[in-house]
Amino acid sequence: MAETDRAKPFYERVALIGLGLIGSSLARALRRGALAGHIAGHARSERTRDLSLKLGFLDSVHADPADAVREADLVVICTPLGAYDAVLEAVAPHLKPGATVSDVGSCKGSVADGFARWLPEGVHGIPGHPVAGTENSGPEAGFAELFENRYCILTPDETTDAGALSRLADLWRAVGSLVEMMDARHHDRVLAITSHLPHLIAYTIVGTAADLEGQLKREQADDKRLVETQEVIKYSAGGFRDFTRIAGSDPVMWRDVFTTNREAVLEMLGRFQEDLVALQRAIRWGEADKLEDWFTRTREIRRGVLELRQAGRFLPTEGNGEAE
Ligand code: NAP
Repeated sequence: MAETDRAKPFYERVALIGLGLIGSSLARALRRGALAGHIAGHARSERTRDLSLKLGFLDSVHADPADAVREADLVVICTPLGAYDAVLEAVAPHLKPGATVSDVGSCKGSVADGFARWLPEGVHGIPGHPVAGTENSGPEAGFAELFENRYCILTPDETTDAGALSRLADLWRAVGSLVEMMDARHHDRVLAITSHLPHLIAYTIVGTAADLEGQLKREQADDKRLVETQEVIKYSAGGFRDFTRIAGSDPVMWRDVFTTNREAVLEMLGRFQEDLVALQRAIRWGEADKLEDWFTRTREIRRGVLELRQAGRFLPTEGNGEAE
């Protein structure tokens, strides 16, 4: 990019719909880099809108999303996926011709469908997903560095305007992301295994442990020698801790991910269950070599993640903050 281009903002007016972890991080990153002339924001609650203004990452805040998007060159939807239809319906008639509408949602097939359904002719819909996050939510949780050295996947199709796409990709690069292009349905299958299934496993194991603790407590009431209460939390450093961190992720966001990416998650869950049964069998039959081979292979995968520098403080799957 030429020096002269860099001196002016990428977009004159950017509207962010949803001002939580991701929306407020994007606003902060845009502001830090002077990448937008004006940053307008909308969130559902007055509390979030007021707090966002007070935190200082917006130029204007609007109770009506239509007012936020009016005259915007770029609109980025940063709400949970379940709110998209209502947001798109509310903003569609007020979009500026030639504007780009994108998003940050964790599933992309449904977003591509929603854009096709709601966006008027002459508005460029380009779904996007920054694969970066923490388990925290809300405008206070955001920070400008969130996207640095993290992948941002854009899912254009054959009808996408090349100029609008390259401008949006440049913006994500300017906030520190490594931009990749991918087919929307392919994105959903890849993320089902790398992000959605790990969250499902974390939600399951933490729920199972909580049930077990409840049972142990009831047994303890009958027999004082059995267990000490709170053992699950007390000994959580033994691997369980990382699951509790992931299982602490936002319930609404993840409810929407699983109801939206249903097919791909069910496919990956089926594969996972087969492999789990294979490991269960190896344990039952004392097949030590098989277990060691399996664990050696997975250790190599971990090394690959480290080499790609995707295992740092902010892990690339949603909800995976401050690891290691
Ligand atoms: P968040 O911190 O919970 O923030 C959500 C924001 O959306 C809040 O400002 C909320 O407003 C607003 N909102 C909710 N429903 C709305 C509606 N109907 N109309 C207008 N605003 C509404 O969520 P987040 O973590 O930033 O996630 C946002 C999106 O990013 C999700 O689609 C998620 O899949 C995706 N994503 C998340 C992560 C992650 O790690 N968290 C990573 C990558 C992508 P109020 O505060 O007023 O309720």
